[in-house]
Amino acid sequence: MQQRTKLLIGSLASSLGIIVLFTSIAFTSALDFTRHQIPNLLHDHNQHLIEMLPETPSLGQIQAMLPYHETRSDTLSVIDAEGHLLTTADNRSSQEPLAHIDSKSLLSASSGFATIDDEEYIWASTPVPDTPYTIVNTHRRPQTGLRDFMKHIGVPIGFAALISIWLSTWGAMVIASLFRRLNEQHAQLEHQARHDPLTGLPNRDALSQTIDETIARRDGDPQTLAVCMIDLQQFKEINDSLGHHCGDELLRQVARRLNAVLQAPDQAGRFYGNKFAIMLSNAGEAAIDSIAETLLGTLENAFEIDGRYLYIRGTLGVALYPQHATSAPVLLQKAEAAIFQARKNTQNAAVFQALDNKGAAERLGLINDLRNALRDGQLELHYQPKLDLRNHRLIGAEALARWVHPQHGPIPPDQFIEIAERTGLIKELTRWVLETAVQQCAHCHANGWVVKISANLSAINLHDEELVPLIASLLERHRLPARSLVVEITETAMMADPARAKAQLQKLDTLGVCISIDDFGTGYSSLGHLRQLPVDEIKIDKSFVMDMIASEDDASIVRATIGLAHDLGLEVVAEGVEDETILQQLTNMGCDIAQGYHIARPMPAAQFVAMLDEHTETKKENQAAAS
Ligand code: C2E
Ligand code: CA
Repeated sequence: MQQRTKLLIGSLASSLGIIVLFTSIAFTSALDFTRHQIPNLLHDHNQHLIEMLPETPSLGQIQAMLPYHETRSDTLSVIDAEGHLLTTADNRSSQEPLAHIDSKSLLSASSGFATIDDEEYIWASTPVPDTPYTIVNTHRRPQTGLRDFMKHIGVPIGFAALISIWLSTWGAMVIASLFRRLNEQHAQLEHQARHDPLTGLPNRDALSQTIDETIARRDGDPQTLAVCMIDLQQFKEINDSLGHHCGDELLRQVARRLNAVLQAPDQAGRFYGNKFAIMLSNAGEAAIDSIAETLLGTLENAFEIDGRYLYIRGTLGVALYPQHATSAPVLLQKAEAAIFQARKNTQNAAVFQALDNKGAAERLGLINDLRNALRDGQLELHYQPKLDLRNHRLIGAEALARWVHPQHGPIPPDQFIEIAERTGLIKELTRWVLETAVQQCAHCHANGWVVKISANLSAINLHDEELVPLIASLLERHRLPARSLVVEITETAMMADPARAKAQLQKLDTLGVCISIDDFGTGYSSLGHLRQLPVDEIKIDKSFVMDMIASEDDASIVRATIGLAHDLGLEVVAEGVEDETILQQLTNMGCDIAQGYHIARPMPAAQFVAMLDEHTETKKENQAAAS
């Protein structure tokens, strides 16, 4: 039965109940009135008669006046001291009821009632003072039944019933529509909490819950369940080059295509960003090829967005229950890890491989740990000082991220930066590095050390439209001159997408930020190529610098690079300076800046500040240079 009908029936029943209750209360009150109020009136009448009698009247005098005061329904009688009825002369039948009443009660009780043959007799007895006589006034009326009562008030009660039924029907309708609206809102909120607003697919939590529930229903049944994850490969490029609305539309279309190839209870959900997770309830290792074909096949045809035809590829990672894990979070994590394994082997799809290699196994756990570390502020920024070889002053430092894992201890930056790049966490990490570095640099400036701080950017950061506005706002917030911030971008990152790199670097250059080419010499770019980019400095890769004493070739490369860079008006930084001999040789070659363990290893901010403090020369001379 619908809730609305239930409410209607309920309210009608309750309103009818209320009418019956009120009617019965009114009926008993009316009865009560006749049995209590009428005797009082009869008494008053008796009293009035007695006052009209002479003092100490005789029986005759009393009896003589009674008939004149009787009415059609009231009969007056006299009884003696024993309660015997001394009837009136006409001895009317209306006095008969008194014969049924115990004479003692007529004397002692002052009023009462009796019902005889459908008639109700209400009496009140009042003794005549100084005589043995008592006047009894008997009021006769038809017995008050419910039917009579209803005859009198049936019409108003009927009206009241109609009004209350109308009111309760109307109230029930209002309440029902209120409930319906509340239910709709509740359902909408629940839907929002469990679905991705963009694609309408279940979100990560909802899918995770479905996977766990499906596993729980298996109750030990070893039937396999596959958790798949698809990562869209060129999504970022599409998002960045064609705009977010194109990226959004692409995700919506991918979601529709995935839904179209799945049948309940199989389910697709949006994991996050450009990753979709799919639960296949009856799929085992043998079906992996056909799963990959079906799921990745959804991406094969072009996506039509804004009149353009876009092609996109995906990488599929699969984890199986119960082989790889028995809970949704671990299955999802392993499916995500399988994507990396597929990429590493240049495959489109891979089933999770339990790794014997301890380092790799740790790396898989590190994906989640890094996400948490960034959220919980577990990362630290260290600073490696840079020495100006032209005047032997400390001119700044390179900011290098450090992560001490609570269980595994320090994780090498190469390792976690790679994870950050693959998972997209690099955006958040770079944002944190820039914020911390700019704040630290501003702190140094405020204390009189006019230094430059370098921060490393990844290739992915060159695709981040929010990067330049972020740097601009940081510089403004900390009142730091833009020239005090150096961004280091590897040669390889720049050459991965030269057009995009150029556009992003030009924006940074317009802002006034220094641009440095990191690890120079390891890529295939020529200095001529770099001329087209707004570059300020190159950093010769440490592999050449460290070997320049032992290898004449490396020394020649370093020398030639310094010469060419100077010809192009660029400053040269040599990194990997591990001893005094290299430092001397670089100075002789005309290298501008040196960085390496010989000068100092990367250190926490406080230690870097202490080192600047020791270098009082730096403070004085930098201030002089600044003024
Ligand atoms: P990189 O940008 O080339 O950083 C210089 C690396 O060389 C640092 O390693 C530094 O400790 C090391 N180094 C400095 N002087 C010497 C020396 O004299 N001898 C030797 N053998 N090594 C020296 P680190 O700190 O382990 O960083 C490794 C790489 O991790 C960095 O290479 C950089 O590519 C990346 N990285 C570190 N922090 C960040 C960051 O915040 N963002 C990004 N995107 N990458 C970072
Ligand atoms: Ca660097």
